[in-house]
Amino acid sequence: MEKIIKGIAEFQKKDFKEREKLFKMLASGQSPEVLFITCSDSRIDPGMITQTDPGDLFICRNAGNIVPPHSMNTGGITASIEYALEVLGVREIIVCGHTDCGAMKGAMNPDSVKSLPHVSNWLGHSAAALARVKARHNEIGPDNLLEMIQENALSQLKHLETHPSVAAKLAVGKVRLHAWVYDIANGEVTCHDAKSDSYIPVENWYAQDIKSA
Ligand SMILES: [Zn+2]
Repeated sequence: MEKIIKGIAEFQKKDFKEREKLFKMLASGQSPEVLFITCSDSRIDPGMITQTDPGDLFICRNAGNIVPPHSMNTGGITASIEYALEVLGVREIIVCGHTDCGAMKGAMNPDSVKSLPHVSNWLGHSAAALARVKARHNEIGPDNLLEMIQENALSQLKHLETHPSVAAKLAVGKVRLHAWVYDIANGEVTCHDAKSDSYIPVENWYAQDIKSA
């Protein structure tokens, strides 16, 4: 805790002062362009890996960067998605998984999480991803973890499409969905390329976006 308390004092003294204008502007509202859905894992710092500022990313985090398919049951993720699309008008939704994801390890080894009823249930939302990975191999193990992480991010995009607020914007081309994977060990971020059905470096996939910006 000491590190956190000292950190707040340091923030107020230094970073806040340096960027006071930005914070004063943000004090009365936000208009992020991106809904960023990622894992709760402590090793992911969305602001740092994207080098964005406060106010740029509307962030939802949970174990396994999971988006439950739409249902009539209200949940935190569902409400956040609805708010991001309908009120904030985000134009991009990124589901960002990461290497060494404990949630995905749990999804691949249900026995390891069977004493955790909520975790077990929650990871059921990754069942389709797991089924795809299993279908391609006789046996799955740690070597298939990255494939599982990649498939999971794609699965969650499919779930996003079932949310009416997302479906409506997709129908008129007002939102794009992206599956990303962050590699903790080397800082690389890859994204799913539909054409090649593979993950490629973000800077390659978005080269066109950057050029036209
Ligand atoms: Zn994770």
